[in-house]
Amino acid sequence: MKVVEYFASLQGEGITIGLQTYFVRTAGCNLHCSWCDTKYAQRPEDGREMSVDQVMDIIGDAHSVCVTGGEPLEQPDTPELLRRLVAAGKTVVLETNGSKDLSAVPDSNRIVISMDIKCPSSGMQDRMYLPNLEVLTRKDQLKFIIADHIDLNYAERFLREHPVHTNVIFSPVGGVDLKMLAEEVVSRRLDVRVLPQLHKIIWGEKKGC
Ligand code: SF4
Repeated sequence: MKVVEYFASLQGEGITIGLQTYFVRTAGCNLHCSWCDTKYAQRPEDGREMSVDQVMDIIGDAHSVCVTGGEPLEQPDTPELLRRLVAAGKTVVLETNGSKDLSAVPDSNRIVISMDIKCPSSGMQDRMYLPNLEVLTRKDQLKFIIADHIDLNYAERFLREHPVHTNVIFSPVGGVDLKMLAEEVVSRRLDVRVLPQLHKIIWGEKKGC
């Protein structure tokens, strides 16, 4: 599999926010979000070829692992890596961009699927693979990255048209301007969780955090 970086840090997003986590970031993404903050992970040729055994070795005894990208499901070896991580007793977050069929992801309570729904500001909102909504359960999460009121209205309408049985996270683009989002969610009485991108509050835009 193509890997662009790996590092220990804190989980910056979603329901496991703040948890010490080992990150494996694959190289190559099938989308091109306008505000992508990991452009260095978009091209497969920028990654280093590693076997699943090598990836398991660098993860070592880390308990919590996040497999992210790029888009991890672009890698044929990702389902095998997930199986190996679960067999090794680890808890895993798989971050996926919402455009790839989730049926290859092993069925395990140890795997949290963190799936995006791209809003209009990304330019990728028509690329979502909506049958995935049936796969997500209460252990998983659906993530909306919100840039403005157009995105917020889109996310609200999406959730009305597609009722889901999973955690729903709203986070602001850029990670720190939470006030508008928090006030809108409260006034609209939306049943979602507003979260920052913790790593950006702590480390800014630094790569590998
Ligand atoms: S899906 Fe993620 S990695 Fe791919 S372009 Fe969008 S933000 Fe960047």
